[in-house]
Amino acid sequence: MALPPTKPGKIVTIGEILVDIMALERGRGFREPLNLRGPFPGGAPAIFISQVARLGHEAAIISCIGDDDFGWLNIERLKGYGVDVSAVRVHEDHVTASAFVRYREDGERDFLFNLKRSASGQIELDQPARALLAGCAHLHIMGSSLFSFHLIDEVRKSIAIVKANGATVSFDPNIRKEMMDIAEMRAGLELMLQYCDIFLPSGPELTIPTEAKSEPAAIAELLDLGVGCIVIKRAERGASYHDRTRAIDRPGYKVVEADPTGAGDCFGATFVTCLRQGLPIEDCLGYANAAGALAVSRQGGMEGISTLEEMRALMAGGG
Ligand code: ATP
Ligand code: MG
Repeated sequence: MALPPTKPGKIVTIGEILVDIMALERGRGFREPLNLRGPFPGGAPAIFISQVARLGHEAAIISCIGDDDFGWLNIERLKGYGVDVSAVRVHEDHVTASAFVRYREDGERDFLFNLKRSASGQIELDQPARALLAGCAHLHIMGSSLFSFHLIDEVRKSIAIVKANGATVSFDPNIRKEMMDIAEMRAGLELMLQYCDIFLPSGPELTIPTEAKSEPAAIAELLDLGVGCIVIKRAERGASYHDRTRAIDRPGYKVVEADPTGAGDCFGATFVTCLRQGLPIEDCLGYANAAGALAVSRQGGMEGISTLEEMRALMAGGG
């Protein structure tokens, strides 16, 4: 399946808005008092869509917050970047989602999520959401948003609306080990692979949804399934693009790593935005690698988004 031609219009995402609260001390878990820093605005879809808007592209998010400080701090930030929040519902009975994050000695992260029973768990395709989907050019889905059968259903309906209008769909599996044992995640993965034009896995996320044992076999299997193209994120080694006719590699940019949170989200947003704007694949990969590198060089998820000028400066060697 070839990618449909570029259609002008908004890039939209549907999924969780949350606050990140980070432990300042490395270690495991949250079973004793420790110093924390936050709340920071976050949620993979929120970071993704902020990066799209920061690139000057029309962007909107369908989500739900509580009528609380965690929610309003996110709304202010999103609005500040120019993201359309007309389809972010304010829920009276649920609080805004949160994620406590702790870094281990080896750099791995432990998360403690409040998602399913939060406002983000109550996301629904109400009239403002349907209006956005009906008019958009592209819909992006994060695997982290497929945390309940209710959300999977809302995503399924969203895809049906945008596909009927000739818009494209991208999917970043963004699988966290804390989510792997949620039965819903597998159902969600299968749904997304059926419909996505752009698949954006990193590491084992490429092979997990397939029968394949090797990278080339997984790529072939996914393209056979109907996935339009696959963009594999390879952390400091950059990224590669695969479709039926092309395989293109681009190395990463050298930066001092401060915090990997949000790198994949900024990468995906930049790749999708550049592609929708009609840039050649090589350039899409180049800008996306720069966006990912800039994100890891900064502390915090949403703090990691950058402008086109910042990306160009890094690409030109000026950091
Ligand atoms: P996340 O942890 O945010 O979900 P991810 O696992 O989805 O990230 P990564 O491959 O870790 O994806 O990072 C996404 C992109 O960011 C990479 O393809 C690369 O372009 C850039 N990147 C990540 N880490 C580094 C690094 N240490 N140095 C330079 N670039 C990096
Ligand atoms: Mg990721």
